[in-house]
Amino acid sequence: MRQATVIDGRLLAARLRQNAAEIAACLREQIGGAPGLATVLVGDDPASRVYIGAKARACAGSGLAAFDIRLPVDISEADLVAEVERLNHDDRVDGVLVQLPLPRQIDPLPVTAAIDPAKDVDGFHPANVGRLWSGIPGLVPCTPQACLLLLRTVHEDLTGAEAVVLGRSNIVGKPVAALLLAADCTVTMVHSKSRDAAAICRRADILIVAAGRPHLVKADSVKPGATVIDVGINPVADGEGRRRVVGDVDFAAVQGVAGAITPVPGGVGPMTIACLLRNTLLAACRRRGLPDPLF
Ligand code: NAP
Repeated sequence: MRQATVIDGRLLAARLRQNAAEIAACLREQIGGAPGLATVLVGDDPASRVYIGAKARACAGSGLAAFDIRLPVDISEADLVAEVERLNHDDRVDGVLVQLPLPRQIDPLPVTAAIDPAKDVDGFHPANVGRLWSGIPGLVPCTPQACLLLLRTVHEDLTGAEAVVLGRSNIVGKPVAALLLAADCTVTMVHSKSRDAAAICRRADILIVAAGRPHLVKADSVKPGATVIDVGINPVADGEGRRRVVGDVDFAAVQGVAGAITPVPGGVGPMTIACLLRNTLLAACRRRGLPDPLF
């Protein structure tokens, strides 16, 4: 049986990180210091610690300065906002990222809105959300950017493609839909209240899945030859209690139907971190009135 092409996110991410390292080296000469990313972790959620660690390592590997801010789990919203404002005014910092989710006592909206939109490398600030939907240059969320870059390895031109996005979160589903629309796809969004989600997914030339449900998408939800991008990261235990990570797509089954597919791990995840470096370098250039670097 013909098997789908596996889109190698690790390889593409390594190229992007190399590219970022070259741009960072040029910038260091131009601005007299390394472009910097500040990551803020509140509390010690193990998954968040892993993500923050990976981001800091990626910065170091590409010659960016990493400012790793750790705050106590019981910090007040006001104190967290004050920390964000301090980073907004720190000239060594080009990008500010507050790791989500936040502890229950903190409303993420005011915290996100406190980040200077010019340093908002997650692209979650309402000003950047509005820019994305209005087609005005801004900072675009990293995971959706990653999805489009992975798609572009298979589809030079997305014009007129039938794209279905499964999931409508603010951090993945909605911004991915905005990017696909901007690329002239015909976009449909599917969510937990959609009727016959599988039938809608089967129409898709491009299927992006971000539901947070392990192996939700089976072969019967995929059109033969479709390109499937799996955003899901779901920790599961196997029969012997070993922990591993699986996607939202049943990779083994869908590989026999799709034309191209991203694996989990090794697909969207590594590209997301590479896009964070890209956003930090974009922010560093734009803050100083320099032209956007070429990636
Ligand atoms: P989220 O906020 O929980 O949103 C999940 C979305 O999926 C919701 O819109 C929900 O619909 C929809 N959904 C859930 N079950 C469904 C079902 N059975 N049928 C149809 N729609 C369904 O999740 P998220 O933050 O977008 O993240 C999604 C996944 O991506 C997670 O596994 C997360 O860990 C992963 N992720 C990966 C990266 C990366 O770098 N690779 C980055 C971010 C997130 P309703 O709106 O109706 O509830």
